[in-house]
Amino acid sequence: MTFSARVKEELCRKSLNKKCCALAECYGVLLFCNSWTSREARIVTESDAFARRLPQLFRKAFRMDFDRRPRPGETGKRVFLITDPDKLQTLDRAYGCDSARAVNRTVNFPVVEEDCCKLAFCRGAFLAGGAVTDPEKDYHLEWVTGHIAVSRAFPVILRELGFEAKQAERKANHVTYVKHSDTLADLLTALGAGVSAMEIINTKLEKDIRNGVNRRVNCDAHNLDKVVQAAQEQIAAIERLERAGMLSGLPEKLRETARLRLELPECTLAELAQSCDPPVSKSCLNHRLRKLMALAQEC
Ligand SMILES: [Zn+2]
Repeated sequence: MTFSARVKEELCRKSLNKKCCALAECYGVLLFCNSWTSREARIVTESDAFARRLPQLFRKAFRMDFDRRPRPGETGKRVFLITDPDKLQTLDRAYGCDSARAVNRTVNFPVVEEDCCKLAFCRGAFLAGGAVTDPEKDYHLEWVTGHIAVSRAFPVILRELGFEAKQAERKANHVTYVKHSDTLADLLTALGAGVSAMEIINTKLEKDIRNGVNRRVNCDAHNLDKVVQAAQEQIAAIERLERAGMLSGLPEKLRETARLRLELPECTLAELAQSCDPPVSKSCLNHRLRKLMALAQEC
C-alpha cells in the first residue's frame, strides 16, 4: 500500500459523529471529486477505506444513498454516482449553490465556518482529490480540483487553520500543495492522521542521521586526503634539502622536525608536534615545516 493510501485509510477512521462536519466533509469531497455538475456527482476512488466511508458519509450528512455504487468486492478504481435530479438539488441547496453555475463552483464559506468543519472539509477534499508523496522521496501533499474558484478559495481556509499552501496549474486542473516535513506532519495530525504524521517525522529523522553520517564520512575522507597530500609535499621538500646538502647545516629544531616528518609520514601535525622532544605546539611545528618548505624552494 502506498503512503498516500495509508494516510487515506487512517483519515477514514475518523468518526462521523458531528453533522456539521459530515456536511463539510461531503462538501470537500464534492468540490474535489471527479465531477460535480448539474447532471451528476461522480466520485472515483481507489481507496478501499474511502469506498467504505463514502456511503456512510452521505447518509450521515443527507440521509442520501448513491444511485450507483461499486459492486461488493470490486477493486481498483471504483465509481460512486448521484444522478437523481432531486438528490442533486438537495446537495445544491444544502451548500447554497446556484445549480446554473454548477460548472464554475466556488466555496460557500458559511458551510466551513467552524474550525472542526474546515478540517473536515480539507479531509474530504484530500480523500476525493488529494495525494501525498512517500516521505522517503519528498515532502509534498496536494489537493487537485477542476474548479478554479475553489482552488483560489482553498488556501484561505488552510491559512485560517494555520497552514500556508502554494498553487500550481496542471493541465486543466488546479493544484494546491503543501511542502516541508514539519508542515505536513502538523497538517496530517490536524486532519486526523497522527500515525502517518509520526511516520513523516521519523523518516525525516532517519534521513537527517543518514545524511549527517555521509557528510561526516565524506568530510573525514576529504581531510585525510589533505593531510596525506600536505605530508607528501613536506617530505619532498625535506628530501630536496637533503640532496642539496643543506639539511645538516640547519638549526637543531628544524633538523628534528625534518627527521620526524620523514620517520612518521602518516602522522598529523598534532601528532608530529607531540613527538618532538620536548613536545611543541601544533602551530610551532607548522611554522617549522613552512620554514623547511621555504628553504627547499630556494635550492
Ligand atoms: Zn463541524
